[in-house]
Amino acid sequence: MGEANAKEGESKNFIEQIIEKDLAEGRVKKVVTRFPPEPNGYLHIGHAKSILLNYGLAKEYGGEFHLRFDDTNPTKEKSEFVNSIKEDVKWLGADWGEHLYYASNYFEKMYEAAVGLIKKGKAYVSDLSADEIREYRGTLTEPGKKDPYSDRSIEENLDLFERMRAGEFADGEKVLRARIDMSSSNINMRDPILYRVTHMSHQNTGDKWCIYPMYDFAHPLEDAIEGVTHSICTLEFEDHRPLYDWVVIETGYKKSPEDVPKQIEFAKLYLTNVVTGKRYIKKLVEQGIVDGWDDPRLVSIAALRRRGFTPESIRRFVELAGISKANSSADYAMLEYCIREDLKPSRPRMMAILHPLKVIIDNYPEGQCEMLPVSNNVENEALGTREVPFTKELYIDRDDFMEVPPRKYFRMYPGNEVRLMNAYFVTCVGVDKDGDGNVTAVHCTYDPSSKGGNSPDGRKVKGTIQWVSAEYGKKVTVRLYENIVDEEKGVYNEDGSLNLNPNSIEVLEDCVVEPKLSEAKPGDSFQFVRQGYFCADSKDSKEGEPVFNRIVSLKSSFKLDKKK
Ligand code: ATP
Ligand code: MG
Repeated sequence: MGEANAKEGESKNFIEQIIEKDLAEGRVKKVVTRFPPEPNGYLHIGHAKSILLNYGLAKEYGGEFHLRFDDTNPTKEKSEFVNSIKEDVKWLGADWGEHLYYASNYFEKMYEAAVGLIKKGKAYVSDLSADEIREYRGTLTEPGKKDPYSDRSIEENLDLFERMRAGEFADGEKVLRARIDMSSSNINMRDPILYRVTHMSHQNTGDKWCIYPMYDFAHPLEDAIEGVTHSICTLEFEDHRPLYDWVVIETGYKKSPEDVPKQIEFAKLYLTNVVTGKRYIKKLVEQGIVDGWDDPRLVSIAALRRRGFTPESIRRFVELAGISKANSSADYAMLEYCIREDLKPSRPRMMAILHPLKVIIDNYPEGQCEMLPVSNNVENEALGTREVPFTKELYIDRDDFMEVPPRKYFRMYPGNEVRLMNAYFVTCVGVDKDGDGNVTAVHCTYDPSSKGGNSPDGRKVKGTIQWVSAEYGKKVTVRLYENIVDEEKGVYNEDGSLNLNPNSIEVLEDCVVEPKLSEAKPGDSFQFVRQGYFCADSKDSKEGEPVFNRIVSLKSSFKLDKKK
């Protein structure tokens, strides 16, 4: 994003303006940004915005980009998530170089910082329970009440905190609180909790610790320890900023407010009618409604990758969504627009028949096979050509034939001549039917002089349809997707559950594709002419037997000008 924002003539977003001022005034010499995920789930499209924003800014201003795991809460974190996050960030192209950090590696420093606060009289150990603390905190309209334990001496606090660390107390029995101001108008400043007791193994530090720092204490220290200059986060942290600054100054990490990493808030990226919340996705995974966190119907980064989205398309999407201070929601159609724009010129256009209907060319020699040259992408000659086998028996799509056509139907019907794409003109001369009257095969004759798809006498046909040789085509499974939530009803029910769309996946087992497509490797993507863009699934494809996911159909109602 930074790169794109840096393009000449484009105006700078508000974060770039802040950074440029800091650089110009000499407050900052080298820009350092970070993406600080908590490894408690998979990253989603919203996180991509934060990743690309932070990485883009570091790149734009010749600075450093850090990937830092904010792994200070042992209860929800797993190394599975650490690995998936690394993979996703790398895939998006945000290169952290040597700057991979774990907040849990700073636990000793954080502990020392807390001890420092106690020594200054700026923190105390409290025996209030979680409920009592909530009660004493007050409300937006009422000030908080003094914690009865806040008068403990520095010596007593030091002793108790050390014993908290040593494991002498049970979970919830004691906490360390900052001493700030119980009557502050900002509730975050009413003696916030800095440390809690949690007897639990941590995915990085094992059983070394049984006290863990709270987010509001840990996060500013992490930034300060790493020399982050611009701590970019989402809007919900705006009210936490005074506490952020307090922690950095009072722990002595920075002397002057000028030097505190600058917290800047921006609006989260939301998608209309799309579920991103970890809580909901976890449920879908656990109930087996989706095939894991990377089910192609989800918008986790792993799911988008598996579906066939490219990093370029996501970068473009995030760029179009822009950076702002106001919450808003982008349309999924905009994401579809971005992937189409990326794949249209760059992927080969292949023939695939999703609902096969047999066609027999009565006057084509039995046993003959012609290899017809076909351009891989007429918009991009660099992709070259391939040869496609043409035989007497072919498959076309059921939709491309009607026995009794409505008006303006230009595809195959008895008596009508159409073009088989890149091959010949054929005329339908009859049908075979089963006992129930269903059409089981269509008979045609072909015009040998129309080879390549044009007739020498200049006669025109209105319909052009794709086909695959019945003899050489390969049978594959293709999956079509719709939104996993029912858009008409909205994402959530009144009870907070999801409105699921029962038709979110359609599995077509009997598709027939041209032989070359059976060589597709997991992750390869193609245009299937007249059908959309498809990607060979990375989980379910086998050597020579790809399973294709539809990334997106060809047509769109989305218009870029409408949005920008
Ligand atoms: P979620 O609430 O969706 O589960 P999270 O905020 O709990 O996500 P974190 O690991 O804490 O996930 O987030 C890492 C970073 O990504 C944070 O800086 C957070 O502000 C940012 N982020 C999270 N969701 C979005 C979003 N929808 N748009 C932009 N940035 C986001
Ligand atoms: Mg969070």
